Amino acid sequence: MVTNRCNLACLYCYAAAHGRGVHMTEEVASEALELLDRAPGRTLVELAGGEPLLNFDLIRFLLKKYGGRYRFALQTNGLLLDAPKLNFLAEHGVGLGLSLDGPPRVNDLSRGRGPTATHRRANCGHAPRHAYRLGLCQPASLPSA
Ligand code: SF4
Repeated sequence: MVTNRCNLACLYCYAAAHGRGVHMTEEVASEALELLDRAPGRTLVELAGGEPLLNFDLIRFLLKKYGGRYRFALQTNGLLLDAPKLNFLAEHGVGLGLSLDGPPRVNDLSRGRGPTATHRRANCGHAPRHAYRLGLCQPASLPSA
C-alpha cells in the first residue's frame, strides 16, 4: 500500500479520503522490496492504496530502482491516470487494474462523488493508443479520429 489516502470516498471503504492519511516513504518501500529479494523467481509487486497514483513520486522511484528485479502491477480508480503517467507505466510494463463498481450511475453512487465514468473516458482520450493497448477502454469510449 503506497498510500492510504484517496481522492474518492466510496461508501464501503476504509481508505482515508480528502487528504487525510499518509504516503509510504521511499525508505520503507525500499526495505520491503529488499526483503522480497530473497523470494525465488521474479516476484510480482502490486502497488495499491488508497489511490496509489496520489503517491506517484514513490511509484516513479520504485519502477526506476526495481523495475528490472520485479514485475509490477497497479490498482487504480483511474481519475489521475493522465497521459504522462500512463506512458510511464506502459514503458515500465506495469499491469493495470481499473476499479469499477458497475454501470456509470451505480459506480458514481457507490464511489462517493463525481462523474467518474466521464473522467475515465476523458483520461483514456488523452492517450487512446496506450489506453486501448493496456485494456483500459472499450473502443466505443475512445474519441473518433
Ligand atoms: S477508490 Fe478505492 S481506495 Fe478509494 S475510496 Fe474507493 S474503494 Fe477506497
